Amino acid sequence: NSLRFYGIESHAELAKFSVRTALLTWICFSIMRLCSILFCICGVRCPLGDTSDILGGSQMIHIAIDGPAGAGKSTIARRVAEQIGFLYVDTGALYRAVGLFALRAGVDPADAAAVEPLLPKISLSLAFAQGVQQVLLNGENVSEAIRTPQVSMAASGVSAIPAVRRFLFSQQQDIARSNNVIMDGRDIGTVVLPDAQLKLFLTASPEDRAQRRFAQLQEKGQKADYEAVLADIRQRDYQDSHRAVAPLKPAPDARVVDTSGSTLEQSVALLRGIVRDTLGI
Ligand code: C5P
Repeated sequence: NSLRFYGIESHAELAKFSVRTALLTWICFSIMRLCSILFCICGVRCPLGDTSDILGGSQMIHIAIDGPAGAGKSTIARRVAEQIGFLYVDTGALYRAVGLFALRAGVDPADAAAVEPLLPKISLSLAFAQGVQQVLLNGENVSEAIRTPQVSMAASGVSAIPAVRRFLFSQQQDIARSNNVIMDGRDIGTVVLPDAQLKLFLTASPEDRAQRRFAQLQEKGQKADYEAVLADIRQRDYQDSHRAVAPLKPAPDARVVDTSGSTLEQSVALLRGIVRDTLGI
């Protein structure tokens, strides 16, 4: 009787009605998810909200750390990640690997028309050995090879190409979907993880950053000249913050932390405190 009340005459009709409703619901959720991904790619927060939860997606904790080159993001983020047992993901390494591939192919890394056809030939993966990230480029471990000043500049070149950013976008999201992460980069809070529970923008004066990079290169026994490092930093700052896609800028809800004049230990303690106060971990 109650079925008839809804205009359903038989059990066969009820079954058809249920299948149709389920299909319609699935289509609606898929459209919402697609919108959410498209908005993410465009660097805009989805007005429909984060649909990943509705779809049984990520319940992971994401901490996004963005900022200019040499602000100490990677060292500070790695230390804090160790302390709270999160995976630390250095997304710059992915752009560096693409930059290295372009250099090896004899192509200008900033030339979109030359770099785009290379992308299908690139297979990138990140491996984590005791929390330390290794980058595999077509199966070769390039974790060391990507750390030269030439590759830094190549990474900055390829990172302005929209096809390269699209190519690396899903890779970064895939890692975050199944892990609690501290992810560092330039567009993590604005584009890659717009729903991160905590967003930080770490910065320092260009001179401070150049001094740290210079010391790091010297420690590794690489030839370095302070003025050249400073010029590189200024040029990368300019390129990264003036590009058309996903330019370097703090997310509107990011907390900006200036580490000028602070030691590494002080910066780690400061960030650890922010994580504890904000997320209770
Ligand atoms: O962080 P790192 O200095 O290793 O990054 C190398 C370059 O990769 C940056 O100068 C920037 O141009 C690019 N990058 C980016 N977006 C990210 C991470 C890095 O554009 N999320």
